[in-house]
This record gives sequence, C-alpha cells and structure tokens, in this order.
Amino acid sequence: MNSLIELQGITRSYRLGGDELKVLKGISLRIEEGEFVAIMGPSGSGKSTLMQILGLLDRPTSGKYHLLGQDVSGLSDDQGAILRSRTIGFIFQMFNLLARTSALDNVALPMIYSGAPDREQRALDVLKQVGLEDRLHHRPNELSGGQQQRVAVARSLVNHPKIIFADEPTGNLASDQAEGILNQLKLLNLSGITIIMVTHEPDIAAHAKRIIRIKDGMIVADELTALGDKDSSEGGVAVKTAVRTRSELKLDLSHPHASLAEFREFSASALRALGANKGRSALSMLGILIGVAAVIAMLAIGKGAQKSIEGRLASLGSNLVMLFPGAPSARGVRGAAGDSSRLTLLDSKAIRGLSPGIKDLYPEAEGNVRVVFGAKNTVTEMQGVTPSYASMRNAVPIYGRFFTAREDLIKDRVVVLGTTVVRDLFGTENPLDKTVKINRINFRVIGILPSKGASGFNDQDDMIVAPINTAMKRVLGTQYLHEMAIECASPETIQPVIAEIRRFLRHRHRLPDYKEDDFNLRDMTQMQATLSETTRTMSMLLGFVAAISLIVGGVGIMNIMLVSVNERTREIGLRKAVGAPRRAILAQFLLESAALSTLGGVLGILLGASISLGLSAFAGWSAVVTPQAVLLAFAFSTGVGVLFGFWPARKASLLSPIEALRYE
Ligand code: ADP
Ligand code: MG
Repeated sequence: MNSLIELQGITRSYRLGGDELKVLKGISLRIEEGEFVAIMGPSGSGKSTLMQILGLLDRPTSGKYHLLGQDVSGLSDDQGAILRSRTIGFIFQMFNLLARTSALDNVALPMIYSGAPDREQRALDVLKQVGLEDRLHHRPNELSGGQQQRVAVARSLVNHPKIIFADEPTGNLASDQAEGILNQLKLLNLSGITIIMVTHEPDIAAHAKRIIRIKDGMIVADELTALGDKDSSEGGVAVKTAVRTRSELKLDLSHPHASLAEFREFSASALRALGANKGRSALSMLGILIGVAAVIAMLAIGKGAQKSIEGRLASLGSNLVMLFPGAPSARGVRGAAGDSSRLTLLDSKAIRGLSPGIKDLYPEAEGNVRVVFGAKNTVTEMQGVTPSYASMRNAVPIYGRFFTAREDLIKDRVVVLGTTVVRDLFGTENPLDKTVKINRINFRVIGILPSKGASGFNDQDDMIVAPINTAMKRVLGTQYLHEMAIECASPETIQPVIAEIRRFLRHRHRLPDYKEDDFNLRDMTQMQATLSETTRTMSMLLGFVAAISLIVGGVGIMNIMLVSVNERTREIGLRKAVGAPRRAILAQFLLESAALSTLGGVLGILLGASISLGLSAFAGWSAVVTPQAVLLAFAFSTGVGVLFGFWPARKASLLSPIEALRYE
C-alpha cells in the first residue's frame, strides 16, 4: 500500500550570489495517514523549507516526492494550487489572516478557489468547531492572538483537507492559548486528518505521536512518542478512521470553474483595497477623471455647436447662396475683406436683377453698437438688412413687426431687438414703441425677433436688426456690405446663379483671367461640407486629447497597482497557499484596476456633464451630452484599467507562494 507521503533524497538549495546554500541535504521519509508528526530542530535547520516542499508551496532541487502514491514533482503551479486547495490546509506562525476582513470571510476564502458550495454555512460550522461562533464578524485586529490562530485553524479545515501543515502554530501565542490550539489539532487528528507540525519547542512536540528531528538539513532522529506508542498498541481510533477515508483519496486535478462567488469576493476585496487607501485611490483616479471630464465637456460643446449650426443652416433653406467679399480662404466660411474687393448696396441691386433664378436676396452690414434704455445699456451686434431678411431667415417677429422697404428707403430709425437684448434692457417691461439710444441715436423699437438659441460660442439672440440704409449711414458709418444672402428659385438654379454672379462680379471688378476671385460664393452644400470638415478636425483633435489623457491616467493607475501588488505580497502568497490559481490572482487585480479606472471614469462623466450643463446655463453655450459620448467614455475608462492593470496583475499572479509569504 502507498504511503500518504513519501520522500526520497529530497534536497533544496538556494543560490546566494555565486554560492550554493544547501538547506536540505537528502531527506527521505514516509508519513502514513492519520499520523500526528512533529518536525523538530533548531532554528535555521530547514524545517520550514521541508514543510513548504511537503505542502507543495515549494519544489525540491532534487529528489522524489510522492503524495498519495503519485509523483508530484512535475505538477504545474496551478495543479499544485488545485491540489493544495483540495487536500491540504495550512496554519502559519504569523496567522496570515486578511486584514479588514471578518473571521467568517477569512475562513471562507479557500472555498472561493475550490469552488465549494454553501461557503457561508461551512465557514460557520468550522468556526463553531474552534469555538468562535460569537466572533464571526470580528476582524483580525479585533481578536486576540489565540483567537486569530483559531480562525486560521478553521480556515485550514474548511475544504475538508487530508493533511494539515502547521508551521510553529503556537510560536506567537501565550502558553494557555497554545494549549487550546494544540488541543484543536489533536481533535482534528482524532477525526482522521494527518497533522504535520513544525516546532522547535520540546513540550509542544510532545503533543505529537511521532517526532522527526532534523539538524542542518538532515534527519537525525525519527521516533514515536509515548502518545504514539499507546496509539499503535491500541490500534487507535485515528488509524481506523484513516483506513475508512482511504478509499476517497484520489488526486483530482480538474480545474474548478470561475464562479459568481469568486467574482463577489474579488469585488469585495477590490473595494476593501480601494477603501483602505482612499486618498491614494482618489489621487490615482484623478488622471482618468480629468481626462474623461474634459473629453465629455468638449464633445458636448462640439456637439452643441454642430447641432445649432446645422439648425441654423437648415432654417436658412437649402437653396441659399452666400456671397462674401474677399478671396475664398482654404477653410473658413468667410474670407478676409480686402481692399480690392468690397460689396456695396449697388452691387446687391445689380445682382438682384441679374437672373430669374434668383428668388430673393438681402444684403447685410454689421457692427457692434451700444444700446441704452433708461439706466441700462448693453453692447450688441447690429445687423443692417432689408425686409427680405424676415422671410428668408424665418425672422418674422411674433411681437410687433419687421420694418418695411419704405422705412429702409427713408432711413427711418426703427429697430427690431433680439430676445437677449430685450431681457438685458427691459427685463419684463414691454419694449414695443419704447425709444432706445443706439450709439446715442434715438431708435423706436417696433418688434422682437423670434428666439434662435445659442450656437456654440455665440448667442444668436444677442443682436438687433435695423434697416440697412439706416444702419450703414446713421450708425455704422460704412458703405460696404459684410455679406449677401441669395435665395435661388430651385436647387437646379443654384449653380447657374453662382456662375452668373461670378461672371458679373469678375467683370465689375475687372479681374483678368489669371487672377482668382476676390469674392467668395458658397452654396449650402459647400457650407455643410466645410462644417463637417471642421467637425471632423475637431473630433480628431478631441480623440487625440482623449488618448493622451487616458494614457496619462492609465499610467497613474498602473503605478498605483504596482505599489498595491508590492504591498500585498503576503496576501497574494496566502491566497496562493490556500489554493488560488494564477487566473484567480490575475482576475482579482485586473478587477481592482478596472474598478479604479471605471470609478474615475464615472466621476469624470459626472464632472464633464456638470461642466457642460454649467456652460449652457451660465455662459449660454449650447452643449449636448449624448449617450454615445457617455458610453464611449465609460468603455474607455474601463478598458484603460484592464489594459494598464494587466502588467501589475500578471506580476502578482506569477509570485511564488513562499516568496510571497516570506516577504517582509
Ligand atoms: P527553520 O528550520 O528555522 O524553519 P528555514 O527552513 O526557514 O529554517 O530556513 C533554513 C535555511 O534556509 C536558513 O538558513 C535560511 O536562511 C535559508 N533560506 C530560507 N529561504 C531562503 C531563500 N529564499 N533564499 C536563501 N536562503 C534561504
Ligand atoms: Mg521556520
């Protein structure tokens, strides 16, 4: 029959600099089921090293190890983890409980990795077994040393192990508490669990049935104690139980499935980790937060501008042609007005009669003016236009009326106010028929323009409209037009009308063939193309800003995750010791960094949305936060967490359990 544990010529050496330090020098031994073995020896003799090899936390440099008759030297890390989780329980000198985690959750931890059902109930049962049913929700720092070690005992039991390894389990305890732990171990041994305990104290070792003494990496004695003698002579209970469990023992190396419980524990652990370092977590989120907020706000403003410009273009009608003085510039809608190219009212009259394809037309001159009413005054834009403006721009007043051609002809001092100007000057008072001073000249208010809303950066209602002759001659003091809007009879007439006007203006400006136009004619399709090009450029710019800020944010998160992995090396070691495979550690830390960056992203979305709302409420900019933008920002911030968290998480998952447990 196979022994439970069989070692043949096990050695373990460490490389220190160039030297080889031999810690174990050929250990051979057998341990049967149901035994209670103490491994004794002076400090530094290799007891812990031996126990770690026995517990599959470490690998021998040479020699053979058979567990349950199967060679386990060739197992992968993850197979070792599975085997640990199903057959082995550990109790350490330093307790190694997860801080800020209740006794119950600490005990349930190994079951997460073994995928066992009814975790809570089982954890409760084993905590009762060690007499801690009234301390379920206490955290390690709220428990005495003895109680903490009893939690550790409960944790080692929770997966029904065949073997429990205890490394100096009473080393940090007062003698009365040590007694309690030893009694627990004895009881467990009676129930059939093999106990292998490392100690350097003879009176502790005396509780075992067999003592293996090692010195300098070699076994120097192996004998039964008085307890062991009695046991074997009576054919003890433990051995009988062991025989009964024998048939169940089998090395099952199938992987447990990732479970919802696992996910929940990871989330809880991520929240604990974030909560434990609130300031640090907040700071590391800042990069993502600011980046996402900026992107959301800029997208909202860009979208708002685009929407209102589109709306404005649509309200202009699709058969519209705009004429600007100055050569067409590569991008902007308006070319700069040059000396050589000026449009006058005479031009507009001439163009009006140029072609039957022209349905209507208005010239426009503009300038900033100060408008005063009573004690209030405001600076706004005055547009001098003709009555055609009202129909072509959908600007027929709801209150009052537009001016007439006759009023324009006689340069009458009448004005139609935009709603912003009305609000600024009149508040709730009725402005109709009131007299305002525009650049010190009295004007009569005859109407209020329908509200158009804000267009990106400017408020379209912050303007006044007056007859163009009045505006040019009485107020602005100019003879030149700012632009001309021409409405064509049908879409088909647009191109002929443009050609006609071009021919006319080139002739009128005496432009030789080799010279370019000194004016700029654009139809709506061109304006829309310009607009979408501008929008595209802006989106690219935004994308660039977003990418940079997310990278900066991601590096911040990666940095903090590396620190976190470093700080929690012991925790990682413990998780691996109780059976966590690489995948689980990787998932845990990925989840944590994703949570960090997603939280940053969500806060960033909220901040960005409030900035957008604030801008539209107080600065009058139109800003539209679209669901797509929010979704995009959310997805990106989560993605950044996963991407930049991967390296730290992988680093954590590759830590060897004992390096991690020994880490100070
Ligand atoms: P103990 O019997 O006190 O439990 P250990 O098994 O912990 O002793 O250690 C045995 C020897 O191995 C000690 O001299 C220790 O310094 C050495 N040792 C343990 N781990 C390492 C390591 N990772 N690298 C180098 N030397 C080590
Ligand atoms: Mg030791």
